[in-house]
Amino acid sequence: MLDNKADLLMPIVHCLNCHQPYPEQGTPYRCPNCGGLYDFLATSVFDPAQLNSALPGIWRFQHTFGLPENTQPVYLGEGDTPLLWSQAFGHEVAFKLEYLNPTGSFKDRGSALLVSFLQSRQVMSVVEDSSGNAGASLAAYAARAGLQARIFVPDYASGPKRSQIDAYGAEIIRILGPRSNTSEAVRQAAEQGSIYASHAYMPFGLPGYATIAYEMVEQMGTAPRTVIAPTGQGNLLLALGRGFQALKKAGAINDLPHLVGVQARACAPLWAVFSYGAAGLGWITEGETLAEGVRIKNPIRGDALLQLVAESSGLFVAVDEEDILPGRDELACRGLYVEPTSAIVWSALSQVVDQLPDPIAVVLTGSGYKSSS
Ligand SMILES: [Zn+2]
Repeated sequence: MLDNKADLLMPIVHCLNCHQPYPEQGTPYRCPNCGGLYDFLATSVFDPAQLNSALPGIWRFQHTFGLPENTQPVYLGEGDTPLLWSQAFGHEVAFKLEYLNPTGSFKDRGSALLVSFLQSRQVMSVVEDSSGNAGASLAAYAARAGLQARIFVPDYASGPKRSQIDAYGAEIIRILGPRSNTSEAVRQAAEQGSIYASHAYMPFGLPGYATIAYEMVEQMGTAPRTVIAPTGQGNLLLALGRGFQALKKAGAINDLPHLVGVQARACAPLWAVFSYGAAGLGWITEGETLAEGVRIKNPIRGDALLQLVAESSGLFVAVDEEDILPGRDELACRGLYVEPTSAIVWSALSQVVDQLPDPIAVVLTGSGYKSSS
């Protein structure tokens, strides 16, 4: 079935609902037959023999990406971020500095793959919705690839993020109200024929986030036993978990680390359902929070992530609003300047550091320069 390498993508991206493969033409963001979500059918195969050290950054791991053979990497310097050990709560903790990616957030690992894929399908213009980081990232990679981008942004998104999107030459459309209004507005644009380059719906960026796991193991010289990351749609932690699964399958690590997803208590659907089951559904709010990047009431890949976190004997943690800025300051006191959405990991670390095994790795997702708080 995989004889024709140009068709490598098609057998592995399927609709989760009706199981139709991703079409060989076009770029639907969800299944045209049934509206279902697309995802990879199986975990990527990680093969150390296929690592290509001639390629820069994440592209060393291109064999794990599931992209068509004719894909040309759209590269801006993503990946190879530093891993820094620092004292926290009496433990040595490994911080993965994802805010040092080209646009200041981990999203670049996904945008690089997504835009490379869209370019392989001759796409010329796209729409996207974002609270800021994904929009800025997509705008940068679109600029690099010569695509026109229109980004729908919630009105509350921080000024620096909007300025960044604007500077890359994308058109910004500001939407009032909660994050879900922005999602609805871009869905309407997609229904009217725009190509929706959704970092949340389209699965193509996920193997890009998984490269964080590959780099961590290389840099630590061992596998982390616990991994902590902010969680909104769930894509980052899901892809990280899959990256570790691929490493385990390849015999590069022995165990899947405990995965810890962190949410702001003001909008913590995954924490609520994971901790309290169906009873938690009634408590889910979309409250205002400084952690604007994880303010997602209905995480698109929530089911898959809940299952993977359970499989890893991990958990979800909710962080109180008043703990967010002190966490940001604690990290900054160690020289690590991140935005409030990233800083929620500090409070989470304080909650789990004595429960879960070392070594603990923490993903610092977005730069403090992007915040107006
Ligand atoms: Zn379908």
